[in-house]
Amino acid sequence: MSKWIKPKSTIGIIGGGQLGRMMAFSAKERGYQVGVLDPTPNCPTAQVADWHIQAAYDDTEALLALAEKSDVLTYEFENVDAASIQQVQDNVAVPQGTDLLLITQNRLKEKEFLKNSGIPVATYAKIETIEDLVLQSKTIGFPSVLKTIRGGYDGKGQFVLQQASDIASAATLLEQGTCILEKWVAFQLEVSVMVARNESGATSVFPVSENIHENNILLQSIVPARIPEGLQRNVQQIAETIAHKMNLVGVLGIELFITEQGEIFANELAPRPHNSGHYSIEACTDSQFDMHVRAICGYDLPAVELLRPAVMVNILGEHLERALELNEQKPAWHVHDYGKVAAKRGRKMGHVTILTTDLESTLAEIEETTIWNH
Ligand code: AMP
Repeated sequence: MSKWIKPKSTIGIIGGGQLGRMMAFSAKERGYQVGVLDPTPNCPTAQVADWHIQAAYDDTEALLALAEKSDVLTYEFENVDAASIQQVQDNVAVPQGTDLLLITQNRLKEKEFLKNSGIPVATYAKIETIEDLVLQSKTIGFPSVLKTIRGGYDGKGQFVLQQASDIASAATLLEQGTCILEKWVAFQLEVSVMVARNESGATSVFPVSENIHENNILLQSIVPARIPEGLQRNVQQIAETIAHKMNLVGVLGIELFITEQGEIFANELAPRPHNSGHYSIEACTDSQFDMHVRAICGYDLPAVELLRPAVMVNILGEHLERALELNEQKPAWHVHDYGKVAAKRGRKMGHVTILTTDLESTLAEIEETTIWNH
């Protein structure tokens, strides 16, 4: 890769959802051309990109065409076929490489990588048969959680075991392939942190976000997380270690558990900008998308500063209609609409970011809207 991929060059994005769209906004702001590969017509990214190749992600010819027309390739989700990317690496810069994809596509590899990097993770074991499950349950104990090593997201492909009698039902997950059994962490808080790194090895870490999930889908992020400063720094240090050990180029999201005793366990990695980092668009000196674009284009990374504490709330399909009224009702709230056509239940349609100096009253104000109440 030459030193810089300069503005007016073309960034090709694999995947046309909201993450690609917000990446495209950052890229366009800096004067880049943007192309996207996605099968859906008028997908969120295509609405803001310069051009759109409408084809499946695993369509090798389409990927070659994207590579041909781009100066640098990136992706907005982890389930991109690494082998296809390897095929186009001679034609176009892929600064993120494929190692990161291969690790994050596979929960077992991800856990092994974290453990070997000295990052604390919940005790886990590889499970291929019901006999493995019986045996490992004895060591790991209950509660525990069985997870498929491939393809799971937002709590899909998971089974929580409370007692030995749950083993038979949990074992049905094994039909989907190899799994891991993890000890249940009695966490006090779930947090995440975004880290950016460029090819020269410079890193920049974002503030720690406190995440509240509902039905395993992220509902709300509070930044900075309500944990002591020392713990925040430890979380940020973990992020830097992971970024270096991975030779990360671009932005990576790390989800972690914090226990009441102040222990930290890394849970999951996302090799791209992450939903819990959206607050950075308004609340930080540079957003996670700005940093991703800078990093993959070879530029230096400024230190990120939090301008104001923030709360981000996701707008799912069932919230959309009323959440869009916030544009009239709450002029200071930043309402984002991803431009998706069908507002299905549980589907991420947009988000709202609220900058605040009084977290408690902001949380109360969010509740008063009743949009996110049951
Ligand atoms: P994941 O797909 O690994 O992010 O898991 C989805 C959600 O399940 C997490 O956000 C946690 O709320 C919960 N979870 C997953 N693994 C564990 C664990 N080992 N201990 C406690 N909660 C967990």
